[in-house]
Amino acid sequence: MSILGLRRALDAPVTTLPKIKAPDVNRLHKLGIETIRDLLLTLPFGWETYGEPIPIASLIVGVQSTVVGTVMSIAPKITKYKRMKLTEATIRDDSGARLRVAWFNQPFVAKQLHKGDRVAVAGLVKDGYGMLEMQNPHHERLDQNEESEPSRVGGLMPKYHLVDGLSSKKIAGWIESTLPLASQLEDLLPERVRERHHLVPVAEAVRLGHRPDTFDEWREARRRMAFAELFELQAAFALMRASIAAEPATPIPYRQEVIDAFKNGLAFELTRAQRRSTWEAFQDMEKAMPMNRLLNGDVGSGKTAVAAACVAMAHAAGLQSVVMAPTEILARQHLRSFRAYLEESFPGLTVELLVSTQSAAERRRVRAAAASGHCALVVGTHALIEEDVEFTDLGLAVVDEQHRFGTRQRELLRAKGRGRPHFLAMTATPIPRTLALALYGEMSVSVIDEQPPGRTPVETEVVEPEQRGRAYDLVREQVRSGRQAFVICPLIEESELVVARSATAEFERLKKDVFPDLRMGLVHGRLKEKDEVMRAFVAGEVQVLVATAVVEVGVDVPNATVMMIEGADRFGLAQLHQFRGRVGRGAGQSHCLLLTDDPSEPALNRLSLLTRIRDGFKLAEEDMQIRGMGELMGPRQHGMTDVAMQALRQPELLSEVRQEAESLLESDPGYDQNPLLKAAVARRLELTSIS
Ligand code: ADP
Ligand code: MG
Repeated sequence: MSILGLRRALDAPVTTLPKIKAPDVNRLHKLGIETIRDLLLTLPFGWETYGEPIPIASLIVGVQSTVVGTVMSIAPKITKYKRMKLTEATIRDDSGARLRVAWFNQPFVAKQLHKGDRVAVAGLVKDGYGMLEMQNPHHERLDQNEESEPSRVGGLMPKYHLVDGLSSKKIAGWIESTLPLASQLEDLLPERVRERHHLVPVAEAVRLGHRPDTFDEWREARRRMAFAELFELQAAFALMRASIAAEPATPIPYRQEVIDAFKNGLAFELTRAQRRSTWEAFQDMEKAMPMNRLLNGDVGSGKTAVAAACVAMAHAAGLQSVVMAPTEILARQHLRSFRAYLEESFPGLTVELLVSTQSAAERRRVRAAAASGHCALVVGTHALIEEDVEFTDLGLAVVDEQHRFGTRQRELLRAKGRGRPHFLAMTATPIPRTLALALYGEMSVSVIDEQPPGRTPVETEVVEPEQRGRAYDLVREQVRSGRQAFVICPLIEESELVVARSATAEFERLKKDVFPDLRMGLVHGRLKEKDEVMRAFVAGEVQVLVATAVVEVGVDVPNATVMMIEGADRFGLAQLHQFRGRVGRGAGQSHCLLLTDDPSEPALNRLSLLTRIRDGFKLAEEDMQIRGMGELMGPRQHGMTDVAMQALRQPELLSEVRQEAESLLESDPGYDQNPLLKAAVARRLELTSIS
């Protein structure tokens, strides 16, 4: 095949793999593997080791081991009881000892191995009624030659990320047949960067990553892949920063009397973290380069007040502001807060709401007020961008729960300024610093790592399956005393339809069997009337709200005192912590109940962290250590592979990558002479949820 042909072979869809069937194609797609190139670039995340072959006589029950011997008999069978297909074989080693081997649901093994073959098998040793046995071991046929050693079995067996129906062995097989194409993989890392950081070329990394001789080789391969991926991302960020900096913004000068008036109008003292974040934002806004800042603070840490201070400062400079929230309920809540924080202290500062459920006349009135400059702040939902709202002079754009919006939506909001408005994004997901740099590298980050004083901590408990009744009792008792409760349904990794169905089923069950006497409501992503249900909950008409994890429950309902989370072991600690933040907002004692499906010790230990730690950032760090960075955000949100995520555990690596990416933009030959990197960066800018 010509080189061009090989390149094309790399871009060929996985359907062209030898002997692949449609279900496996779908499974690969689920893993994000569409082409042969994707397949090759997906390295194993770990290895199983079985050690060097040992004699059958020295096998120990319960230990992973490797045996080399001769197949004495092999035949497909059907099991008596469950009618399962099975391949059964007996293997004899050179000393004459025998081992029974059974492969369940793998009838094809009987076609691959034959009587008299020399094989290596590796797996867990079991006691098979008087004779030692291995079930579903890895196997490899060896040359007849006595000296031949197994190349994989006994050495290293790759572990790939899987979905149901796939096995690492299957993937290893496909890799085997496509690995020769690796030599055609193009390298987007400039050679001098590779040299400086001792990174192997991509073709080599792929070969070593899939077929290393030692762990170190595999680690080298992973390091290289992680570096390249982070490099791509950071190059994208560097470009974005450069393009943002190139568009001027109107400077908003700092004025002491404005912040004094703002503080005087508040019913509370700002916390130290709020003051620091406000100060950081003010410093950005004074520049002619647009602010691009992420305000990261736990639920309830008081992000709104920081945003309000910025709005006040913009207003004093004669500029308008806009605040976009993901749901109408949140937008209405913001309307109340911003008015409370601002309208009294700043008489000319009017705040208006724009959401799609308002009457046409009302929306027209708000649009006119924004366009004429009479209104200083418009708070709203997507309607802000859909309805073509115009401003006289927009100086500041704020987005709440920024991960709920796509890149395009945020861009549309920013485009409403004459130049570029200063931009403040808020998120309640506590992100450790390294991860913030990796994910939102184009933004500066302010952290509010302190809660306002006087909050009663939420009492958090892990509830094991057999104590479920106790959890229901608590819900009932709280509702009887006039409080409200949330019930969060487990996270199911399926379609929204499946999630909706299971939430509906759980809702029906609770209503019928558990709380027939209580007023219950259900919200899930597919429900048309979800705003109506939320409103009823906020108004206290609904006492127990059953919700799916995907639905926004980010509302302030101080009367809610119970947060009950089903299948808590399936969530990341950071996410559980966010749910917990929905209660404990009023004066009463609140409770968070973590129900587990999996009462295993590691699961319980992990959940018990929540009972001890109240700081979202600490929890995020802990979770990162236990489950890895990827889990923190949920796989869909970050668009990074686990290789890159793991590499983030070493903060030095990220800063090296950032430096290289920065300097590439200034050097020659640089970014513009690297079409591969350019294409990769363009793809990333589209894919990732970076702003
Ligand atoms: P979040 O960061 O989750 O958006 P909010 O801005 O909604 O938090 O604030 C949560 C609650 O805390 C609000 O009722 C707000 O008025 C109150 N709050 C904010 N800052 C302080 C403070 N420094 N002291 C006391 N209460 C505060
Ligand atoms: Mg908020």
